Amino acid sequence: MPRPILATVHTEALRHNLSRVRQNAADANVWAIVKANAYGHGIERAFAGLRGADGFALLDLAEAERVRALDWRGPILLLEGVFEPRDLELCSRLNLWHTVHCDEQIDMLAAHKTHQPHRVFLKMNSGMNRLGFAPQRYRAAWTRLNALPQVDEISLITHFSDSDGPRGIAHQMAVFSQTTEDLPGERSLANSGAVLRHAEAAGVRADWVRPGIAIYGSAPDAPEHTADEWKLQPAMTLSSRIIGTQMLQPGDTVGYGSSFTADVPMRIGVVACGYADGYPRHCATGTPVLVDGVRTRMVGRVSMDMLTVDLTPVPQAGIGTPVTLWGRAAKADGLHGDTLLSIDEVARAGGTVGYELMCAVAPRVPFAVDA
Ligand SMILES: *Cc1c(COP(=O)(O)O)cnc(C)c1O
Repeated sequence: MPRPILATVHTEALRHNLSRVRQNAADANVWAIVKANAYGHGIERAFAGLRGADGFALLDLAEAERVRALDWRGPILLLEGVFEPRDLELCSRLNLWHTVHCDEQIDMLAAHKTHQPHRVFLKMNSGMNRLGFAPQRYRAAWTRLNALPQVDEISLITHFSDSDGPRGIAHQMAVFSQTTEDLPGERSLANSGAVLRHAEAAGVRADWVRPGIAIYGSAPDAPEHTADEWKLQPAMTLSSRIIGTQMLQPGDTVGYGSSFTADVPMRIGVVACGYADGYPRHCATGTPVLVDGVRTRMVGRVSMDMLTVDLTPVPQAGIGTPVTLWGRAAKADGLHGDTLLSIDEVARAGGTVGYELMCAVAPRVPFAVDA
């Protein structure tokens, strides 16, 4: 038997989350954001659940090739555009739409030989100060692009820095709409936070929305809202099993650094999952975990290949008992129950966000798809 750790991708949850996003953006087209290998789920594994999207957006050219290899004929958008001139050849060949965020990318387009003009998304830096043209330079960039025979339609795109927090999106919306008022073309503004929290804001849904984290079933604004409150379902379960147990007496310690000391007699389970599997080492005693579907807590430090859990609430647990690190309760028969442990809760305990945990599942962890 292989080491029992397993990541499972839930196709039905991806479908559900996509339709949940559509509820908030009924008139918009939806880009399923599948960058970073579909937020760690695997593009090929997530595809069945996401093929109902109107397009796929990502930033790695090799990932765009993988989406085309799945026979996806619809739109694919490169969110960072091209990195060097020859990337444009791939865009021509695979009909990739690409973001244009700087003058150098316009220069590359102007020098590109193509029979088929490209659909581009001209990016405005409306305040985040990452990629994009400053508002006062945006129209000049549009005019320059519009004059190029290599360019077909120009769409307008910007990205929010605070859709998930108290500052909100109004200041960036105002800059974007003032600058683009009389420009033609489709618009794309909203990430998951904007779709979920600001769906009522005029124009935020625009022509294309760009949800990422929401379709994978994590709340962009945890802990203010939970995924459950947003009616999102976890698209990934990380599960393993107990491979050892120990009886502790008061005063006994657990693991490296003896960071946990028992104050009463207790049984602990040793789980085949450690930081080399992508489980955050910063998760300390108290981090929630499901054993046999029952909520309990981690005790002691996470080590490379193992972590330890308090078995007090699950006296029936022993070697082979299923453990859920996040996602849906794993059962002994390999199926999943209805009890959930949100990746956001685990992330919080580790001082990070659900995004990072799902992207960081290590290559040594085998995956399954729950169709
Ligand atoms: C990653 C990304 C998104 C999706 O963000 P979420 O917070 O995961 O919804 C949308 N737009 C751009 C430009 C991105 O890079």
